[in-house]
Amino acid sequence: MLSCKDVTRLVSEGLDRDLPLDRRLAVRLHVLLCGACRAYRRQVILLNALVCRRFSRGSARLPGGPSLSAEARERIQASLKKRDA
Ligand SMILES: [Zn+2]
Repeated sequence: MLSCKDVTRLVSEGLDRDLPLDRRLAVRLHVLLCGACRAYRRQVILLNALVCRRFSRGSARLPGGPSLSAEARERIQASLKKRDA
């Protein structure tokens, strides 16, 4: 049986690409028997869905991306410098 560490890695990989059938079945079996990995998998899938939905609407950008104006970026940087000083 796969370890919990293997399962967490495979769950994440499975979001990026299709896993081979034997890996998918091994993950499913482990998740059936392991509540921690079942919860992890559920949360990762939910987070992935939320991020995908958010980005597909075009309302979110990566930090520092084009949605922030230069003025806003300067304000944030100044605020961070003030805080760190
Ligand atoms: Zn597990």
